[in-house]
Amino acid sequence: MTTVLSPDTTIFDQRESEVRSYSRSWPTVFTRARGTWIQDETGRDYVDFFAGAGALNYGHNNPVLKRALIDYLESDGITHGLDMHTTAKRRFLETFDDLILTPRRLDYKVQFPGPTGTNAVEAALKLARKVTGRESIVNFTNAFHGMTLGSLSVTGNSMKRAGAGIPLVHSTPMPFDNYFDGETPDFHWFERVLDDSGSGLNRPAAVIVETVQGEGGVNIARPEWLRALADLCSTRDILLIVDDVQMGCGRTGPFFSFEVAGITPDIVTLSKSIGGYGLPMALTLFKPALDVWSPGEHNGTFRGNNPAFVTATAALEQYWADDILAKSVRAKGAQVHTALADLSARFEGLDTRGRGLVQGLVFERPEQAEAVCRTAFERGLLAETSGPSDEVVKLLPPLTISTDELELGLGILTESVTAVCREQELRA
Ligand code: PMP
Repeated sequence: MTTVLSPDTTIFDQRESEVRSYSRSWPTVFTRARGTWIQDETGRDYVDFFAGAGALNYGHNNPVLKRALIDYLESDGITHGLDMHTTAKRRFLETFDDLILTPRRLDYKVQFPGPTGTNAVEAALKLARKVTGRESIVNFTNAFHGMTLGSLSVTGNSMKRAGAGIPLVHSTPMPFDNYFDGETPDFHWFERVLDDSGSGLNRPAAVIVETVQGEGGVNIARPEWLRALADLCSTRDILLIVDDVQMGCGRTGPFFSFEVAGITPDIVTLSKSIGGYGLPMALTLFKPALDVWSPGEHNGTFRGNNPAFVTATAALEQYWADDILAKSVRAKGAQVHTALADLSARFEGLDTRGRGLVQGLVFERPEQAEAVCRTAFERGLLAETSGPSDEVVKLLPPLTISTDELELGLGILTESVTAVCREQELRA
């Protein structure tokens, strides 16, 4: 392999749209990656605590998934097939049934929308509206559900919403768990406006929720809050959609992030890591009674990405035939939490929150979070910020990371936080 002395970004600067963002946070040119590691063209290695924004839960170029993919490609397996029946899709559905749905007593029909998270959310919203005949959707403060218009209408971030260029309607935001720092009882507002005929709230078709808001700043919904939400929905005949695009596939420990609450959502969206290898794939799951679609009523040229079915099947077989991975996520999550709690005890204005292997270090001063990510990159660690003011350093390492690698990355993070906070202390 040839390495260069410094990355050449000329063509990106000249030709690529201003919309690019991660390339600004990490101003280098990446070439290859394996497991927890990603390398740039200068030969520099970085520990990856970003994992494709949650699309690489099983690491980069996972060898088991890679072998399955290479074998499939070499056998001239179907690459593109819209929603035709294929052997790859059959194997995926059978494996998903056997290893994921049946053991959890979940009876869901599976829709393959276009292969991104926002496609899965659009399908969920459309279906909820079609089933109920109602228009409005309740979403939560700081929610993130994607960039297409329907998903954006239930997303909180004002900068992203402004990008729509048209009014985003038929959604009503409600306070997410702990929005009032525990000062207002759960659902006080939501329950009240639902039941008050003078509140002006149109009866919603559905409520869409993330159990942990990843983009919104690693905000955690408590299991009891999720249970109360599920009860509220079922007693008022409102559909409950859990958007598990980022928190599903074991990110918080169990395969589905809502398992911790013991609830059964009416509709579930999955994408990012469901394809296993970072290949695009998305699922919208729903209770059979909701399957009122007419054939082709919702479609997409790339629905059903067959190479992703192959790697998805291999990932389920490798990691979800037992609970070893789920348990290890809890243990590694505790390891991360300990390091973050240590930092927040050492420095003023820091707090921590997280579940499983999504953990956040919250800064009272958002500019510090950004400085930490920049310093971490310079020291060989990828991590991004999230939250409405980018005030949270969000850690999403691959679930398959070793404890030694985790320790190494946490060491770089600790050095970076120490450097940034010390510098600020000296300046103060
Ligand atoms: N829902 C959630 C919870 C997400 O985190 C994301 C992506 N960050 C999406 C939907 C949208 O997924 P995509 O970018 O693949 O459209």
